[in-house]
Amino acid sequence: MTKEKENKPTLEAAEAAVRTLLDWIGEDPDRKGLVRTPARVIKSFGDWYSGYDEDPAAILGSSFPDAGAYKDMVALVDINFESHCEHHMAPFIGMAHVAYVPDGRVVGVSKIVKVVNAFAKRLQVQEKLTQQIADCINDELKPKGVAVVLQASHECMTTRGVYKNNIRMVTSAMLGCFQDNEKVRTEFLSMIDAKTA
Ligand SMILES: [Zn+2]
Repeated sequence: MTKEKENKPTLEAAEAAVRTLLDWIGEDPDRKGLVRTPARVIKSFGDWYSGYDEDPAAILGSSFPDAGAYKDMVALVDINFESHCEHHMAPFIGMAHVAYVPDGRVVGVSKIVKVVNAFAKRLQVQEKLTQQIADCINDELKPKGVAVVLQASHECMTTRGVYKNNIRMVTSAMLGCFQDNEKVRTEFLSMIDAKTA
């Protein structure tokens, strides 16, 4: 899935674009404090958008048959994540809660965290991010069900636009038994409630 983009601009071109933006907001890109800023911004982009170099499906490729046939829910709550909205390139920051009920295959829990990061470190909308995490786990582990809940604060709402500080956007994707079985779904949601009450 991951492939180097054709006709990708050079590093110099990317830094020049930041310099143009500095100029555009009324700054002097040549003043002392700003000389290295374009380079720093592009280096930061390397962290914020590192997900384009990751293949989330491959991360889960190391799943293994579960000899003990563990049948109950595996849940990870409070996975902190940082992403950027594709509308404003503003950060949205929050918690991901992910659960699945295995059907013979399990994966190291750190891989789930890596999948969250691989999708989050791209330009995103929260709804899409939620669904992508759920679909990827569903496709690769083929579990009985997957649940993903994301709670995040969007800086495009808190620092601009409507200027609302305390809004947290909550999105969820429920697949398989989390959709069909109310008991399983409630068990997962009560774990999240217990953490956020
Ligand atoms: Zn936004």
